[in-house]
Amino acid sequence: MNDVDGNFTGTVRKQLGLTFQGETREDFYIVTGDIRLTGPCLDGVHWHRFGTFSGRVISLRPTDEIAEDGWQFFILGPDLDIGKIAQSEELIFETLASMIDTEITFHELVWVTEYRPNLRMVNKFSKGRVFVAGDAAHVHSPTSGQGLNSGVQDAFNLGWKLALVEKRLAHKSLLETYSTERFPVISDMLEVTTSILNNAVKTGSTAGWANTILFMLGIHCHFSSIVLDEFATPTEGKPTSTYMVLDETHLEAGDRAPDAPKLLHVYPRKSDMMTLFSLYRPWYHTVLVFAPSPADATPILARAIRQDLVLVDQEGHAYSAYLVESNQMKIFAIRPDGVIGAVVHGSEDVKKYFSKIFWEV
Ligand SMILES: Cc1cc2nc3c(=O)[nH]c(=O)nc-3n(C[C@H](O)[C@H](O)[C@H](O)COP(=O)(O)OP(=O)(O)OC[C@H]3O[C@@H](n4cnc5c(N)ncnc54)[C@H](O)[C@@H]3O)c2cc1C
Repeated sequence: MNDVDGNFTGTVRKQLGLTFQGETREDFYIVTGDIRLTGPCLDGVHWHRFGTFSGRVISLRPTDEIAEDGWQFFILGPDLDIGKIAQSEELIFETLASMIDTEITFHELVWVTEYRPNLRMVNKFSKGRVFVAGDAAHVHSPTSGQGLNSGVQDAFNLGWKLALVEKRLAHKSLLETYSTERFPVISDMLEVTTSILNNAVKTGSTAGWANTILFMLGIHCHFSSIVLDEFATPTEGKPTSTYMVLDETHLEAGDRAPDAPKLLHVYPRKSDMMTLFSLYRPWYHTVLVFAPSPADATPILARAIRQDLVLVDQEGHAYSAYLVESNQMKIFAIRPDGVIGAVVHGSEDVKKYFSKIFWEV
């Protein structure tokens, strides 16, 4: 059983004995909802904000899902009686109008609710046969836009492991790595997003929202027991956070596998240029063998891996993204969730990696 709904899983979490430690923030108490309105300064292309986060602020984000004049709005202000405003259509219109310089015409309040950020996460992402993911496992400040992507990453991390265990291709202990890999990442994400929320509330600045760490491209699980890296240097002195800004000069097992464009497909048939991302899929591993020549790759392919494609990296994009020297032999196993599972030297090491995942190799 998987669960990805925050409210329903309140009950499920309790029944499982999973905790949901954290806090509810009263200092970011807002009224939010969908509204239809028009005004001369309000185009439906831009996200409009009036005021600052240290005082009163309103936000109007266009959404044509409701209607052409539809907006997703929120109102925030320490001096506002948010609870009272949320109960009254008239007060909502009045507050919005008071913050916008030009005249606006209200057409409809579609729905409205009060909202306080909950900053919480479970102590474990699974119990027995039940797995929690997305908002059911972690909730956080909306100030950094990390919620949806984190939930999707949970699902990708869990999906391929569940499939292998269900097909009896992997031992059920593989499922334990869902919690061990995701827990530190979500814990670090909560720290990052809470610090951005604190800064927004304290200074009114939204500068932290542009932090490139929020692109999520540097998130890693170097520490995982099911990744294998024979090139990485010992971990001593390395930063321990799993939430990092992408560093293109460093790549190891547990990192997100990068893309590379313009790869010439020369075997089994010639075709157009390909990208690595066009090869990666969530239902299989992809093994990349970087070899100085096809002859160098042959022994590895004969012993460990079925060869599906030969690609020529004419412009060096893959060599550059995967930090491989032109005369170097380096093998990467890319997991179904797009994480680099292994960076190794030869066929025995490839088997060593896959023996961490599968029953039989
Ligand atoms: C105001 C606001 C702004 C946000 N902005 C962003 C943003 O900019 N970027 C971002 O990444 N994230 C944002 N988020 C967070 C993001 O929306 C959530 O993290 C994400 O939707 C969580 O997805 P989920 O699948 O875990 O849960 P949900 O999206 O809540 O999905 C759970 C589903 O389960 C259904 N369900 C509930 N009970 C049952 C039941 N008993 N049986 C069957 N189905 C049930 C629900 O109807 C729902 O469809 C925002 C959230 C809010 C509230």
